[in-house]
Amino acid sequence: MQGLMMEVPLTLTHVFERGVGLHPRQQVVTQRETGPPRRATFAEWGDRVRRLARGLHELGVERGDRVATLAWNNQEHLECYFAVPCMGAVLHTVNFRLHPDQLAHVIADAQDRVIVCQRSLLPTLARVADRVPSVRWIVAFGEGEPDPPGLPPVVDYEAVLATADRPLDWPALDEREAAGLCHTSATTGDPKGVVYSHRSAYLHALTLLTTAILPGGLGDADMLLPVVPMFHVNAWGQPHGCVFAGAGLALPDRFLDADHLLQLLASERVTITAGVPSIWGPLLRRLDREPVPLPHLRTILCGGATAPPSLIAGFDRHGLTMVHAWGMTETSPLGTVAVVKHDLAERLTAEEQLGLRASQGLPAPGMELRLADLTTGALCPHDGVHEGELQVRGPWVCRGYLNNDDRTSFTVDGWLRTGDVATIDSEGYMRIVDRTKDLVKSGGEWISSVTLEGLLMGHPDVAEAAVVGRPDPHWGERPVAFVTVRPECPEAPTLEVLRAFLAPSVARFWLPDALMVVDAIPKTGVGKFDKRQLRRQLLPATAPAPEG
Ligand code: AMP
Repeated sequence: MQGLMMEVPLTLTHVFERGVGLHPRQQVVTQRETGPPRRATFAEWGDRVRRLARGLHELGVERGDRVATLAWNNQEHLECYFAVPCMGAVLHTVNFRLHPDQLAHVIADAQDRVIVCQRSLLPTLARVADRVPSVRWIVAFGEGEPDPPGLPPVVDYEAVLATADRPLDWPALDEREAAGLCHTSATTGDPKGVVYSHRSAYLHALTLLTTAILPGGLGDADMLLPVVPMFHVNAWGQPHGCVFAGAGLALPDRFLDADHLLQLLASERVTITAGVPSIWGPLLRRLDREPVPLPHLRTILCGGATAPPSLIAGFDRHGLTMVHAWGMTETSPLGTVAVVKHDLAERLTAEEQLGLRASQGLPAPGMELRLADLTTGALCPHDGVHEGELQVRGPWVCRGYLNNDDRTSFTVDGWLRTGDVATIDSEGYMRIVDRTKDLVKSGGEWISSVTLEGLLMGHPDVAEAAVVGRPDPHWGERPVAFVTVRPECPEAPTLEVLRAFLAPSVARFWLPDALMVVDAIPKTGVGKFDKRQLRRQLLPATAPAPEG
């Protein structure tokens, strides 16, 4: 027997109309270098969204066409987030920190027709101007130097809005149509395009509203500050979630230093913020030096890389709750969130709960997880001990890549192979052990670089730590630790000191063989440790760099 319920398409058009219609007084706030932030109500912002859609239509953008953005987190970027998919086109958010070859590759892969670009980023685009023949127009906004030469025709964003005299009627969309496109950050090979549908973005956004993701959920009393870039996996779906819920957005633009962030968190009474650990470390140290009252802030979402327990405990000291989450470009990105189950919160000590909060957490509603043995591929038990490749399935997980027939990332029965090595315990908590490519294999045994990094970052003198394997004639590989030292420490710790610090927590053969104290650990465009570059630093100058 079939159910008799309506099949209403799940589209971002509904998300937009709901947010603007029900919450016209809600705010979109954008940080400026100096002076008070820029403000718009949802009603004003919504009007600009409709005019942008009309303007893009006049520029020749048709249903299914790709419109790229090169922008920081700001109001105009949020306008594109809805104008483009609601008019039936596809929003291609481009990471402007990519190497020029990769930048040219992703624009060509998407066949972008129009690029909406923040003026200060036009020089980045100019570097690939002769390699992007699909681009008909560049729509530029914000302040910057005069337009660099050699670009496709540049029109002014405000002029496009000003000439759009009547709103565009939104087309009736099929929920399976593409709404967005984001390329993976690809630590090996070329970035691959992940194509989100209206349906996947809608369901992902709806899940953000639940308490399974954010303690207390997400609602119209909230003001959310996404530090995570809007060019990376839809800023974790938060712009969609906020508009759906009628929650306000405080957007940091390019001002991501601790002082600007603290200022925005305080002035806008931000309740929820989200970003990668490399943003939160400096912010915590700034708070430790000089506490700032943030009475409204109830959740700091942390993902993209492992949140060390010391970071979570550090924010606890300030009465601020960090919630750890795991995900990928391929998973929209919400996969798991480390919320503590109600009965466990009642039973466990604070220390035991910290262990759960530092895990990557429980699957988001709708997501399924399993582990496959690294050698045989057989499924592993969820006992908290067996380590296997994490495989996932769910309504917002990709089932293929743009213009790419390679099926190696998928199992024959349709699960995504994440490339992460993990354990899952009997309560369902998942813990990332490493990336398959970042595990260090010493004497045939695996060493988790992620575990060593988490422990090292718990040492009072260490600010950041990254561990990679160095080829070793006897053991195959041995771990080497790269660390940066906290500014207030007069002297860098020695290898012996750090080995003694690690010794109670890990097997002897896990202790790093060498220590490299560096000024900064190189990061990828989305703020993760760039281990490929670190491995290259360990090689003799003449040897070729290994992949991965
Ligand atoms: P990306 O597609 O660039 O967002 O990268 C996804 C990868 O980042 C995952 O496969 C993990 O290796 C890593 N990652 C994301 N979140 C976490 C986390 N909370 N802990 C550890 N690794 C993470």
